Amino acid sequence: MKLYNTLTRTIEEFKPQNPDEVKIYTCGPTVYNFPHIGNYTSYIYWDLLIRTLKANGMTPKRVLNLTDVGHLTSDADDGEDKLEKGAKREGKTVWEIADYYSNYFLENYGKLNLTQPDIIARATDYINEDIKLVDTLTEKGYTYETSDGVYFDTSKFTAYPDFAKLDLDHLRAGARVDFNTEKRNVSDFALWKFIKPDEDHAMRWDYLGRPGYPGWHIECAAIIHEKLGETIDIHTGGIDHIPVHHTNEIAESECAFDKKMCNYWLHCNFITIDGEKISKSLGNTYTLEELDEKGFSPLDFKMWVLQGHFQGTRNFSFTDLQAAKARRLNWRNKAAESYQLGNIEKTDVEAKILEKLNENLNSPEAFSTIDTNELSFEDWKYVDELFGLKITEGIEETPDFIKNLIEEREEARIRKDFAIADDIRDQLAANNYYVKDTPTGPVWQFLA
Ligand SMILES: [Zn+2]
Repeated sequence: MKLYNTLTRTIEEFKPQNPDEVKIYTCGPTVYNFPHIGNYTSYIYWDLLIRTLKANGMTPKRVLNLTDVGHLTSDADDGEDKLEKGAKREGKTVWEIADYYSNYFLENYGKLNLTQPDIIARATDYINEDIKLVDTLTEKGYTYETSDGVYFDTSKFTAYPDFAKLDLDHLRAGARVDFNTEKRNVSDFALWKFIKPDEDHAMRWDYLGRPGYPGWHIECAAIIHEKLGETIDIHTGGIDHIPVHHTNEIAESECAFDKKMCNYWLHCNFITIDGEKISKSLGNTYTLEELDEKGFSPLDFKMWVLQGHFQGTRNFSFTDLQAAKARRLNWRNKAAESYQLGNIEKTDVEAKILEKLNENLNSPEAFSTIDTNELSFEDWKYVDELFGLKITEGIEETPDFIKNLIEEREEARIRKDFAIADDIRDQLAANNYYVKDTPTGPVWQFLA
């Protein structure tokens, strides 16, 4: 199995430390608002990763975090904490906001039929681990204190620019005029933030004799160490995380533990909508519910996402979503037909599909293989294991009354009682079925 590794900028053969426990970490959402559809694409691709590892006989151990503290509106360690912002907006406590949006996210995670992570870690449950990690970095001389927090001195970690191929001179030259003057280097980042006496920040913990809260990056480094150990196999995230968040996670972890943090880094690209960036001001921050109202299920959206490669830029449009929905329905009906007729022999098509995924998770090519081959019902079940698109759902459990209606219709047709046959057709349609006549007799299909 081959994967594109951001660390080496090449496609490499994937070699886990232990195939029976492939250690994987995924940066999860900041739980302060309703995610838009673009926020789900990465989780859909990482679900494909997990399923592909399993299809290759490996057993993943995967941790997903939920950021419920410390993610500021600006990546430069200033601006408001996103959770505090959400609480003010809705007149709720930060804890209520975190609970509500965590549950909301996990519900939609289920609707997309994404494999549940083995461990879901809420950042606020790991404050002690964060503090321990900051202490370790301080003992090793990597930190310094300013009036507003404890910072990581990036000049002490010579490999700091490597991961993102950062040009630090360029960064320095482009630094904002109001750049935090207490910072020693423009790339330094907060490990811990102090709460000023007049500052309204409900989530607070005592550290160094003052109230404060952890910086955003430290939670991931601390959770990874606590739940998966010093070196993990795969770390996933969006490409926007490469220059700051993941670079900082590496700095924290590798300086604290003197071990390589992760062997393979996978990053997925963004989607645009009708050629535009997704943004509130453009009014295109569609939620899964909004797609549903327009007649597209979360699985139709998942189908659309998997039609593209995780590293490619994708442009979303409702026309393309309609096409993805039609493709999924077509697969459902092919599966239904092969189940009812049992006429397709098993071939090596499963191996051919997996082969495409083993080439750096090439889902578009895997989909073409599915389109251009005849699949038995068993093969369609395999497709469901690989992609979680629920192609075979409801096929084996066709209700008896539907089967009876189909028989009655066939009998009515034979005796040329077309009024009855038409009436039965309408009854079937009301239940989302229709009858297709094939050379080997009638088979039912899904209407939508
Ligand atoms: Zn992270």
